[in-house]
Amino acid sequence: MKRRRFGTTVIDVPAIGQGTWPLPDVAALRHGIDLGLTHIDTAEMYGDGRSEELVGEAIAPYPRDTLFVVSKVLPSNGTYHGVVSACDRSLRRLRTDYLDCYLLHWRGDVPLDETLGAFEALVRAGKIRSLGVSNFDPWDLREAAAALRNEKIACNQILYNLGERTPEDHEMPWASENGSAFVGYTPLARPRDAEGERVLKEIAAAHRASSEAVALAFLLREPCAFVIPKANTIAHVEANAAAAKVVLSSDDIARIDAAYPRQPRVGPLPTN
Ligand code: NAP
Repeated sequence: MKRRRFGTTVIDVPAIGQGTWPLPDVAALRHGIDLGLTHIDTAEMYGDGRSEELVGEAIAPYPRDTLFVVSKVLPSNGTYHGVVSACDRSLRRLRTDYLDCYLLHWRGDVPLDETLGAFEALVRAGKIRSLGVSNFDPWDLREAAAALRNEKIACNQILYNLGERTPEDHEMPWASENGSAFVGYTPLARPRDAEGERVLKEIAAAHRASSEAVALAFLLREPCAFVIPKANTIAHVEANAAAAKVVLSSDDIARIDAAYPRQPRVGPLPTN
């Protein structure tokens, strides 16, 4: 499995992880872990904690230090005490003592100083190993970075796929310049036009991979990039794990780039 440094953490993490919403299937998650997809993304919001419980069940047999578990707090729990209590609830549901990274799911009304102050306290308490954000544009990211006293933003999780490449001009450069990880969610979505599908299929056939694996390999071009596809189907889990072995040529990349061109961003950061 392709591994890379996860932002400011000193940990090498699989570039391809596993998403867990809609609710994950425990057997599929375990199959993914066995194939090296040990980077698992969840959130207190997903199924009101049910996703975290299922992840807890899935990871229970594995040595904790072989996994990289990420969860997210809702902005409505973003006060100092709200974050600390939400993290404790997530840890209980996940049946673990610590999270590898804890994210603010999106920016809410609580001042970032307060929310991120609680995150820093959780790092000191050993309950989270790193902290990050999700759905933050570069303006929000700058404010978040300025609000932190000791820690750095380990990652920003963003909607990113072949049909939504605007982060390449905004959040991805911020991540590269600030030593942060860029984590793409909903990475398998794409416009289904005939030309794009033909290009992906041809490249996939040449690499003996699926179109989805080729799409994931394309999204992982930058060293700061990670993706977290979600798959409940065993064949999909296997195809996603296989994407780590796909090495695209510059010609492959140029063809995909032409078939799914980058568009300028109009309006705010797109979210899912
Ligand atoms: P996704 O991973 O792009 O797509 C999931 C869909 O693709 C499922 O229907 C899945 O089917 C199918 N699939 C998976 N692997 C496939 C393959 N190799 N070939 C064909 N189809 C495949 O979208 P997502 O679930 O929206 O996003 C992934 C994760 O990102 C979520 O699970 C969640 O953890 C996270 N997320 C975060 C945010 C945020 O605000 N931070 C927002 C949305 C999502 P099966 O399940 O049947 O295999």
